[in-house]
Amino acid sequence: MTATLTYPYDAPPEFGTAMEVAPGVKWLKMPLPMSLKYINLYLIEEDDGWIIVDTGIRGDETRDLWPKVLEQALNGKPVSRIICTHMHPDHTGQAGYLYETHKVPFYMSFGEYYMAKTMGMMMMSSNASWQMSEYFLRAGVTQAFLDEMRDMRSSFTPAPEDIPFPGSYVRLQDGDELTFGKYNWQIITGNGHSPEHVCLYCPELRIFISGDQILPVITSNVSVHPTEPEANPMIGWLESHEKLKGLLPDDLLVLPAHNLPFYGVQARLQELIDHHEDRMLILEENCVEPQIAVDLLPHLFARVLEGPTKMMALGECIAHLHCLMTRNRIARTLVDGLYMYQSIDPTLATRAKPDQHEAPDDVPVMV
Ligand SMILES: [Zn+2]
Repeated sequence: MTATLTYPYDAPPEFGTAMEVAPGVKWLKMPLPMSLKYINLYLIEEDDGWIIVDTGIRGDETRDLWPKVLEQALNGKPVSRIICTHMHPDHTGQAGYLYETHKVPFYMSFGEYYMAKTMGMMMMSSNASWQMSEYFLRAGVTQAFLDEMRDMRSSFTPAPEDIPFPGSYVRLQDGDELTFGKYNWQIITGNGHSPEHVCLYCPELRIFISGDQILPVITSNVSVHPTEPEANPMIGWLESHEKLKGLLPDDLLVLPAHNLPFYGVQARLQELIDHHEDRMLILEENCVEPQIAVDLLPHLFARVLEGPTKMMALGECIAHLHCLMTRNRIARTLVDGLYMYQSIDPTLATRAKPDQHEAPDDVPVMV
């Protein structure tokens, strides 16, 4: 990827501190246990307090940092509201703790709120359904691998000692306008990475809090999950990028959940669209003969994949395949319990460019 983005800050603030990035908007980071090391969270000032945007992952490490950050950053004002951009555990892990501690309203979109409430029941659940197993087996995963995955817990998985996720919420919807202090903010939703991902846009401040909807360096995970085996998230992801291209001016500062704040949103949106189109062309080129999904992973990812990373890579691969099926470029047939994917578009020969693709990603990114 080559888009020229500008990063006004060389490094994130230290853990436990927050840095002002616009009038009444502060940036902080919280630790993550995976390769990304941290997530960016934001604070927005309003008249009678500060709004927390995203909460960090579950566990003591992040929880212990929250009082330190708030003491340093809020200039004596209280927390006034909590917003989560989407349901993923690095964004919602401390939502219950902050909600119970500060007793302030919790804001989320409808789709994200109800997905968050069922999180943790997906793959790890003891009531994983026959259809979940079927989803993986049809993709070419072995039963042994599936059994191994089912027994694993991760730091994402909610634990009994966690403070429960907020039991009530205030609904955010695409197009909502909210006033925080002196400024008006617009709610813009996207999907594909998660079902109804909230972004916050302040035209006056030229600030866009993007969550995981737009990231400058890594690409957000866009996966088909076994809970919805026929899902088509890539269509929504690409449509969301087109929508944001139409809405956002290029001179705003994007505040993402991962990597660093950046300028260059239009170039980045186009680059992300191009990236997924390139991945899909790679799959078409490699499905001239019928293929099962697991055998396509080496064309998309450079490293030999294992465990949950392999599951995530498979979900991403299938998301691209489902988009191609919708476009009538790939056909899927069930043969002896396996889904075979085959290219069917007659123009493939003229579109193929096997020597000119972006290098494969190393591994899928767990965000
Ligand atoms: Zn996410």
